[in-house]
Amino acid sequence: MSDYGIKELRAQIDVINLQILELLNKRARIASEIGHLQAKLGTQFYDPQREAEMLQALEQANNGPFSNETIKALFKEIFRASLALEEREARAKILVQRKHAEEKTVIMLPDGTEIGNDHFTVISGPCAVESLEQMDETAAAISSRGVKILRGMAYKPRTSPYDFQGLGEAGLQIARQVANKYDMLVTTEIMDRSQIPTLSEYVDIFWVGARNMQNSFLLKALGQIRQPVILKRSFGATLQELLYAAEYIVASGNPNVILMERGIRTFEPWTRNTLDISAIPLLKQETHLPVIVDISHSAGRRDIAVPLAKIVRASGADGLMVEVHPNPPVAMSDAKQQLSIPEFHTLMDAIEKVTV
Ligand code: PEP
Ligand code: MN
Repeated sequence: MSDYGIKELRAQIDVINLQILELLNKRARIASEIGHLQAKLGTQFYDPQREAEMLQALEQANNGPFSNETIKALFKEIFRASLALEEREARAKILVQRKHAEEKTVIMLPDGTEIGNDHFTVISGPCAVESLEQMDETAAAISSRGVKILRGMAYKPRTSPYDFQGLGEAGLQIARQVANKYDMLVTTEIMDRSQIPTLSEYVDIFWVGARNMQNSFLLKALGQIRQPVILKRSFGATLQELLYAAEYIVASGNPNVILMERGIRTFEPWTRNTLDISAIPLLKQETHLPVIVDISHSAGRRDIAVPLAKIVRASGADGLMVEVHPNPPVAMSDAKQQLSIPEFHTLMDAIEKVTV
């Protein structure tokens, strides 16, 4: 029975499909070449003006039977796919991007401790160094639970210039002295690249605070040292921006970068920031750098520290940071979120029970 030529017409469609496919991929290759040049120039991949011009030219050339709206919708889909390709290629080129499933950066610390190698690292200590007694009491308690990294700020980035600004170099001396006594390492925040020489005398791990995450001059300077750097996510930064900030350090020569999720600003007032749980698996998927979570600054309150720590332990993160103070109500900063020593022990008991 005659099919009125449908078979023949379908054969023509098959040929056209292959031609369109070839043209689409040819177009994608050219778009990707443009993407490489844009990356070199540092210009944005997405150019709305150029997209509008292309759509206008297509509209003018369109003789149907497809309507202009249909043509525009089809081409917009092609533009979107090209843009996604350019962005994927640009991401794949950055050093901090994970290239294959097993790739991971393991940070080797001066005492042989490793971060990022299956072991769950707990970093703890008070918000700020306030006195020798305060640091000693804290370090004695946390080191008894196997914590090897002692935190404490010597230079405090406060919202108000009238709040406690930290003890400065005297605080660094206290932190070092106490860490040596308990066989621990010191981590503290670096505010400015001019502090590198002084801090290097006392500190084993530098950390860049949320407010400085995009200070590219500081990041580049930290790329020139060998000490590991903890890079805290800014409360307003996307994960992509965090990775680019880490890229500054790694591309400048220091591969020892640890990412730290510390909560982002949302409309939720019951926590100081919102702990972005999905950041943990997403960062583990996208980058080979270790990922640690600061449960103190994300929540800003101590009453939910234990469940948050359990979630972080179970999430596949490489560790957590928690603030501990011998007498939180009288702490000079972050009094609401620092754990007392008994609360710290409860938290450690809880995470030791979590199976990953
Ligand atoms: C801190 O860790 O003490 C701190 C100030 O954190 P953030 O920079 O994340 O606010
Ligand atoms: Mn703090």
